[in-house]
Amino acid sequence: MTVEIKRRGLMFVLSSPSGAGKSTLSRGLLKSEPNLTMSVSATTRSPRPGETHGREYYFVGLGEFQRMVQDKEFLEHAEVFGNHYGTPKEPVMEALASGQDVLFDIDWQGAQQLRALAGDDMVSVFILPPSRAELERRLRGRAEDTPEVIAQRMAKASNEISRWSEYDYVVVNDDVAVAQTQVTAILAAERLKRTRQPGLLSFVDGLVKGG
Ligand code: 5GP
Repeated sequence: MTVEIKRRGLMFVLSSPSGAGKSTLSRGLLKSEPNLTMSVSATTRSPRPGETHGREYYFVGLGEFQRMVQDKEFLEHAEVFGNHYGTPKEPVMEALASGQDVLFDIDWQGAQQLRALAGDDMVSVFILPPSRAELERRLRGRAEDTPEVIAQRMAKASNEISRWSEYDYVVVNDDVAVAQTQVTAILAAERLKRTRQPGLLSFVDGLVKGG
């Protein structure tokens, strides 16, 4: 049986320093876009309060993570803040094959690796905070991390932010509702790209010839 794919699936990557609002924007997108599915990463970091295995992440030990790397179960993987993170390959391939677009919350290292694999099938968006002070305020406000971790994340933010120019789009998340609209608009426009819609050929043929 052959499956007719009218539009090639899209790999939609959101990156930002932590605290720039990427998780909120991801949740908003998943709510408003039924044809979008989230890639759930595996990580060796410990769960934060409220995080559930299989929802935010698959929380695995270092040994299991290394086995997954060895067995080539990841599309990409990287070390971030001393922990390992990786994108399991199989669910992404299944989602794309079934016509779903896939959303990734991964860092610049992961985005680089996905770009090498996916080329134009990947669209990347970098989310910037409106200011450094606001970034720090948001990190403190979410009260998930210890002061040491917050200080560490602020120190890493500059490094993360310096990667902005490798992305297709940049959104400054000052007003979250505005940023949400902008990210949604990027996805909508990218979905409509002619080159992503192989089904157009026969559709337009029918329009031209009638019948
Ligand atoms: P957190 O520990 O705050 O959830 O995530 C820390 C950083 O790791 C974030 O910048 C997030 O985007 C990144 N990250 C999460 N999952 C993955 C992944 O599978 N691959 C890569 N390369 N980065 C990831």
